[in-house]
Amino acid sequence: MKIAVFPGSFDPITKGHESIIRRSLPLFDEIYIAIGVNSKKDYLFSLDQRIDWIKKTFENESKIKVKSYEGLTIEFCKNINARFIIRGLRNSADFEYEKGIGQINKAVFPELETIFLLSLPEYNIINSTIVRELIRYGGDVTQFLPEKVIIKKA
Ligand code: ADP
Repeated sequence: MKIAVFPGSFDPITKGHESIIRRSLPLFDEIYIAIGVNSKKDYLFSLDQRIDWIKKTFENESKIKVKSYEGLTIEFCKNINARFIIRGLRNSADFEYEKGIGQINKAVFPELETIFLLSLPEYNIINSTIVRELIRYGGDVTQFLPEKVIIKKA
């Protein structure tokens, strides 16, 4: 059974994440969308809200599981018997960042492979940090988010 993990904070999940996940579906038997929880980080949306949006986005996909985890992503992978980490690449900055993490992960957990999918060009510009900034200042981010992610205006 091929089990993969797609880790992130998904604050909120974007169309960029959604696209990578949907394109990964034919490659694996199970995909865990894993929300890393870092107690030192401030999130814009609650964990429950983020989980709910992901579940709604993939409600018809039986291969998709949603879980949160604390600590190292590789420990989470070991605990659920995952041998693959999925990452999306938008540009050379993503590549350099991911290369460092991927090579370290390979050194400490050799059975684990990181699988990279290139972003579709139309999603290259979507970045959750910028999406959060827009939300904070009341901007309309509908075009960047999956259909089921509805942001209520404050
Ligand atoms: P988060 O802000 O949710 O933690 P990250 O930016 O860490 O998300 O991204 C989690 C994964 O999703 C990374 O592999 C990242 O490259 C990928 N990703 C994020 N946005 C996009 C996008 N627009 N297109 C493709 N992949 C993306």
